[in-house]
Amino acid sequence: MQKTMKAAVVSEFGAPLRIDELPVPTPGAGELLVEVMACGVCHTDLHAAEGDWPVKPAPPFVPGHETAGRVVGIGPNVDGYKIGDAVGIAWLHDACGKCEYCITGWETLCPSQRNSGYSVNGGFAQYAIASAAYAGRLPGDVDFASIAPIICAGVTTYKGIKETQAQPGQWIAISGLGGLGHIAVQYAKAMGLRVIGLDIAADKLALARSLGADATFDASSPDAIAQVIDATGGGAHGVLVTAVSRPAFSQALQYVRRGGTVALNGLPPGDFPTPIFDVVLKRITIRGSIVGTRYDLSQAIAFAVQGKVKANIHTAALDDVNDVFDQLKAGKVDGRVVLDLTKARTQKTRSHADDRYATV
Ligand code: NAD
Ligand code: ZN
Ligand code: ZN
Repeated sequence: MQKTMKAAVVSEFGAPLRIDELPVPTPGAGELLVEVMACGVCHTDLHAAEGDWPVKPAPPFVPGHETAGRVVGIGPNVDGYKIGDAVGIAWLHDACGKCEYCITGWETLCPSQRNSGYSVNGGFAQYAIASAAYAGRLPGDVDFASIAPIICAGVTTYKGIKETQAQPGQWIAISGLGGLGHIAVQYAKAMGLRVIGLDIAADKLALARSLGADATFDASSPDAIAQVIDATGGGAHGVLVTAVSRPAFSQALQYVRRGGTVALNGLPPGDFPTPIFDVVLKRITIRGSIVGTRYDLSQAIAFAVQGKVKANIHTAALDDVNDVFDQLKAGKVDGRVVLDLTKARTQKTRSHADDRYATV
């Protein structure tokens, strides 16, 4: 009989995820079978499950792209991996390796890339497939739950901070201090920047201060823009917007310093107005930033392994994924919730009949 695994499945957009039994996948050429130990729940997984974006995944699919686990199977044509190796599976599941983007260090822009938890099944499952050439290498003694958020929130914000081109000693403002933002504060400090944190939730501001932010401001206050400009002596040299809120994007254009760069990580659906006069006369750069390359990922992991960056995590069971989505939607997660897949092994698998999520 084929071996099966528990997985959280998006069967239709906007519906609760179903906990299903799926066949354990078989690694093909160049692939690894990974026993998932932990997988962080990124707001992107929620966007995916809701079908928020113009390019949509095709249900049924398994979300999850902050996957950390151990290699338990190796497909043909794989070099350099052995059973038991610890790996991460990031959003960039794989790319073509040949296009102009791939060969110039911009594999994150490859038009043929596949994405974990979106176009390829992800880590909300007991097992997942990694592409050996794109997996992130983790130390053998790694704490899987702690490292999981680094696989997306870590690499994304580390890269996003670099994309602002703010220099050590200069000011960066981090707008949105959730899963991405609370980690961004730590990378920015470790990179020698002075950090302003902005969020609409007081507990997120407190968390950012406890993680080293030099000052934090309530983004919903009418004074927020003036406060950032005042605290930074003229505006932040770089801004990283991770907020899931369109007004946060417009606001950033008003407190960035003249000549500064606003890097955009957050992906709320829709548009935001861009005041042409301000952008031109203040020479503001607005730059999208999407996850990071394999090299960025290895650097982001190194910061965490050295103890310079540590996600504030809460663990949950796979069966509770819909509750975690509800908390994320309501802005109630301080830091990151990480699904502990080792718990799935001891839990009784729900049948569809008694699955409270499937019957909603
Ligand atoms: P999250 O829900 O953990 O955090 C979002 C934070 O934004 C919350 O703390 C919330 O209080 C705050 N917020 C809401 N309105 C705000 C406002 N007006 N001003 C400031 N803060 C505000 O989400 P997350 O997992 O950190 O993801 C954030 C966004 O980044 C999502 O849209 C996600 O899809 C996107 N993302 C992008 C990339 C990328 O490569 N560009 C990678 C990962 C995630
Ligand atoms: Zn993510
Ligand atoms: Zn390519």
